[in-house]
Amino acid sequence: MTQTYLEEFKNPERILMGAGPSSVHPRVLQAMTKPVIGHLDPDFFQVMDEVGQMLRTVFHTTNFMTAPLSSTGTGAMEAACFNILEDGDKVIICRNGYFGDRLADIARRGGAETIILDAPWGKPVDLNALENELKKHQDVKMVGVVHAETSTGVLTPLTEIIELVHSHNSLILVDAVTSLGGHDFRMDEWDIDVAYSASQKCLGSPPGLAPITIGPRAEEVIKTRPSEVQSFYFNLKDLETYWSQTRAYHHTSPISMTYALRESLRMMMEEGLENRINRHSKVASALRAGVSAIGLDILSEEEYRLNPLTPVVVPDGIDEADVRRQLLQDYKIEVSGALGELRGKVWRVGLMGESARETNVFAFLSAMESILSKSGYEVAFGASLAAAQRALITFDE
Ligand SMILES: *Cc1c(COP(=O)(O)O)cnc(C)c1O
Repeated sequence: MTQTYLEEFKNPERILMGAGPSSVHPRVLQAMTKPVIGHLDPDFFQVMDEVGQMLRTVFHTTNFMTAPLSSTGTGAMEAACFNILEDGDKVIICRNGYFGDRLADIARRGGAETIILDAPWGKPVDLNALENELKKHQDVKMVGVVHAETSTGVLTPLTEIIELVHSHNSLILVDAVTSLGGHDFRMDEWDIDVAYSASQKCLGSPPGLAPITIGPRAEEVIKTRPSEVQSFYFNLKDLETYWSQTRAYHHTSPISMTYALRESLRMMMEEGLENRINRHSKVASALRAGVSAIGLDILSEEEYRLNPLTPVVVPDGIDEADVRRQLLQDYKIEVSGALGELRGKVWRVGLMGESARETNVFAFLSAMESILSKSGYEVAFGASLAAAQRALITFDE
């Protein structure tokens, strides 16, 4: 075996169009090369405060407890569940995909009596079904829902669900990992109690930080719970003392990652949130038009489609993994395969954050035309590109 580790890692050229991570802008990478300072340095506190301020803007909240956790999105799922739920508490998890399933798994591991409300993959959870569950089970402490199901490309409308959940005196937890920065998301206006995201999807940073925000009801629950939180690392009450004026050491902050998040949030502020969400919507409409012009179906129903992720149904006779392999090898484009029951049946094409660019849509569509044509699928060359161009023009009208 050659000792390749003695050589510098040669970064392959990649266009990241999968379910995350998304491409990272050079400005953000550059920010990570700044010298490391201490996590108790007053200058680092300023960086933390600025990140907190910008996160509040992105979440549309005034919640004090708004900060990036030192983990990817899954860590935030654990933090949210473990800090709110105690042994024997009842929780309803809406499961319309892989991440709803993960959320239910985590809630159950946390000791909660976990009631699962299933919806077909490709659709949002049904409001009446949720109402029935809330009537059937008394004292449900929290209801968990995934805003943007990255496994199926479904955006679940939140406002009616939240109203329903609060009318039963339960808390609402929202997984905003793929929606934050890519779709409209309003923590305070929609009256959400707990929400979290991840740095590597629509926020434009590398993976490694998971912003979380805690509303007043949930904060009260966290601060008055009689039992200890199982997790030392994700104990939000203790973490708050580090993020607040007290600045007590809890664990060493990932300094360079925080620099990166600061820079990517700063770029969001420069672009403007509305412009950014509009950009995600525009490029997604071009991608969908192009994919349809190739004759491929989109798994999610039209009125619930996610912009940052499009699930493209693999046509009969085409090898899903082989197409992905060719995209990566010959075109340097990464798209994702599907998870769970959709494995082998769907390509998940992401347009998140810095990856949500028109040029990426055209690169992907032309590559797909060539690959599918070589695989014996009938393709009218250029048709998908023309459809995408038309979609971009009509979007602006
Ligand atoms: C990616 C994702 C997660 C998990 O995040 P990791 O950063 O992979 O830990 C959770 N929920 C949703 C909806 C996601 O898309």
